[in-house]
Parts: sequence; structure tokens; C-alpha cells
Amino acid sequence: MTARVLVVDDVLANVKLLEARLTAEYFDVITASSGFEALEICERGDCDIVLLDVMMPGMDGFEVCRKLKSNPDTLHLPVIMVTSLDQASDRVTGLEAGADDFLTKPIDEVALLARVRSLARFKLVVDELRARATTSSTLGVTTAPPYRPDDGRGGKILLVDDRAHSRDRIVALLGGDYEVEIEANPHEAVLRAGDHEYELVMVSLGLAGFDGLRLCGQLRSLARTRHTPLLMLADIEDRQRILRGLDLGANDYLVRPIDRNETIARVRTQIRHKRYADGLRSNVQAVMELAVVDPLTGLHNRRYLESHLVSLLEQAAQKGRPLSAMFLDIDHFKRVNDGYGHDAGDDVLKSFAARVKHLVRGADLMCRFGGEEFVVVMPDTKLSVARTIGERIRAAVAASPFAIDKGARAIPVTVSIGVAASDCGDTPDALFKRADRALYLSKNSGRNRVTASAA
Ligand code: GH3
Ligand code: MG
Ligand code: MG
Repeated sequence: MTARVLVVDDVLANVKLLEARLTAEYFDVITASSGFEALEICERGDCDIVLLDVMMPGMDGFEVCRKLKSNPDTLHLPVIMVTSLDQASDRVTGLEAGADDFLTKPIDEVALLARVRSLARFKLVVDELRARATTSSTLGVTTAPPYRPDDGRGGKILLVDDRAHSRDRIVALLGGDYEVEIEANPHEAVLRAGDHEYELVMVSLGLAGFDGLRLCGQLRSLARTRHTPLLMLADIEDRQRILRGLDLGANDYLVRPIDRNETIARVRTQIRHKRYADGLRSNVQAVMELAVVDPLTGLHNRRYLESHLVSLLEQAAQKGRPLSAMFLDIDHFKRVNDGYGHDAGDDVLKSFAARVKHLVRGADLMCRFGGEEFVVVMPDTKLSVARTIGERIRAAVAASPFAIDKGARAIPVTVSIGVAASDCGDTPDALFKRADRALYLSKNSGRNRVTASAA
């Protein structure tokens, strides 16, 4: 995995050192010697990750970070604060300024690599989700408001550790903020992690008779735990294994004896990132749904119908099975709006959709085609059967009036219907044209009737 890392430091020697180390790991490095310069580069979208020195003249790192995190164009850029003093207060200020992680000078090589890699991976996910959300919004769908990252507190953690002393220490540190569940057996741990919604899994690399790295690999390869953050608990002599773990997809590590502030900060950072990515993911999903569902009736919309019909027709042709399409158009619907108001019209559309939906099979695809026009696609259905179903629908619509004004009144409604069946190799267009022509004939011959297309 590679990424473009922006190194910001007013001391040239520091910049050169970081640049050399990151370049050796195949990261693409750009540099800036002041906060102003850094902001410019970030606004241009020229980097993926920012390594930011805290102490700089003019504008310090905290200020740069606050500016980045309050600008919608740069807010998603991961920021690693580089503090010269190992001071808890600096870290707290950094996290409050919105920093995603921190490193302490002199910078440890493994730590540098761990943080940059983990954030490069995170940035990749965020970029992908943002790109999808943008695509959906250019399709004409409004996106939900941008997700705000939270403080990373609360939630469930799975701790895989078989050393009583180490477990007790972690529970004592995190137990106040999190629900920490303990599992000493690594095989059980995989099952539990797949069954529960943990926001973080902490894995000891020193399990008796089992390689914790194997567990990291398993958790990364299972669909259910692929996105769950993994934090390794290592011993000081484990440096090579930490690097292996990062290769396998673990997100970060802690070295025993674990430091209080460090532990809390790393746990929070991982959980915050997960929630941010989850938020984007569900936003994308909601946007996708919005793109294909009609909000008034809850039916699929025309966009969905047109893309899905292609595969339905292919399947029908492959299996040599018939497929029918039904066009429905409410009669004189303008009169409903004109006579009773637009809200009453909406009520009728909703009830109409529900009444018809009730009369078609689960395998049939019913869509709102637009306005007061609906389409039902019926796989495995020949024309004569489709016509019978059409007649049943027509009769059910005419049989009883539709409630408006919260049930205070009801108005009679009728529908005209056209049905057509597909010939092998039909395009959606050809099928729709025939069903539409049949509908036109129903309208022309007096409405409230069903016509089956001859061809
Ligand atoms: P016909 O029998 O020939 O189909 O006549 P019609 O009045 O039903 O057909 P027309 O296409 O002229 O009018 C459709 C009306 O449906 C016009 C439009 O304002 C109304 N309409 C379309 N979408 C909605 C909607 O979402 N809500 C409401 N209340 N009315 C809608
Ligand atoms: Mg109409
Ligand atoms: Mg119409």
C-alpha cells in the first residue's frame, strides 16, 4: 500500500529524516516548512496523509490541524501530530484539535510505519466511499449531511489474551469507557468476533501455543470481521512480528508494559476511524437506496426497473421461459388533484400502490414508472396469465373507493392497463413499446379496461 504523505516541519533536518524513511518504504513524500504552505497543499488535494510537527513559528501544528478539520474539503485528510515532548497534554490538545494520531520524537521507525500505513489504509477506504457517494449525488440523489466523527468512546471490545495480569490491566484502563469482553482461546475468539458487533479486537501476540498473527490473518480474511479494527498487544522483542502483523492488516499495536494514555488514545483512534468509515458506508448505502426507491410509495423507481429488466429478460431467454410486462395508468388522475388537492392525490397513489402490490406475486417486480404510471414485470408469466392478473387488478381498483383526508372521505378511481409478453431476445425497449401501445388502446377505448398486445 502506498500513499502521498505530506511532511510538515520548520526544521529542515527533521523533514529530511522523515522523507528518507518514508521514501525507503515506497511512500510518495512531499514537504512543507510552514503551516501556511501545508494548508495550501492540502486544499489543492495533493496529499493523502499529513505528518504535522506541533512546534512551528507563525502557525503551530494544532492550529493547522484545527483549520484542516474545519474545512469540508480537507476534513477527511488523516493528520498525524508529531510532538517533541512525550507529554500527555500535547496529545490531548492534538486529539481535541481533531488529529487522527500522534508520534513522539525521536520517532521510532516501527511506530512511524504503523501509523502511516494504518492511516493510508483508512484514507483508501474513505476515498472509495466518498467517490461512490459523489457518483450517487451526480446521479441526482442528494447525499445525507457529512458524517461527523465522534469521540471514539463507548462500545464493545474483544480482548484476546491469556495472561491474567495483562488482561486485568487492560480491563482496569478501559473498563470505565468500554464493555471489554475477554477470550483466552483463539479459536473461540474467531467465532465470537464473527458473531458479535465488536468495535475493536485486541490480540495478544504472546498467546501460549498459538501465534496471534495467525488470528490477525483470520480476522482480516473473514467477511464479518474484515472492517473490525485490530490492535496488537506486543512485547518489546516483538518488533519483527509487529511489522508482519501490519502487513497482515492489523491496524496498530501497543507494547507491554502498556502506557495508560497511549492505550486509551490508540483505542479511541481506532474506534473513531471505524465509526467514521461505517458512517460513510451506511451513507453510501442509503444513497444507493434513495437512487432506486420511490419515496412516496416505497416501490422501486424507473431507474431500477430499467437496469434490472435487462437481467430479467436475459434470464427468461436463457431458461426459455416467458416474461410479461404490465403498464398501469390511473384514469383521469388530474381530476383527483384538481378536485381534492395534491395531498389527496398522493394518498391515492400510496393506496393504489399498496392495493396493486398485494395482488401480484413476490417474484414480480412492481415499480412506479413516474407520476400515476406503474409497471409490473412478471417473470415466468405468459401473456394470457398476465392478462388475467391485469383484469383482477383492474377489478380490485374499481371495486372500492380510495380513502383521502385521513379516511374522512373516499373517491372512486379506475385504472387502464396494457400487457405484453417478451419474445426471445426482446430488448426492454421493445417490450415496453408493446405494453405502452396496449395501454394506449385501453385509454382510447373508454378507460377502466385491460388490453393485451397482439404481437
Ligand atoms: P388519463 O386518464 O388520460 O391518464 O388522464 P390523467 O389525468 O390521469 O393523465 P395526465 O397524464 O394528464 O395527468 C397525470 C397527473 O398526475 C398530472 C400530475 O400532476 C399528476 N401527478 C403526477 N405525479 C404526481 C404525484 O406524485 N402526486 C400527485 N398528487 N399528483 C401527481
Ligand atoms: Mg392517467
Ligand atoms: Mg399519465
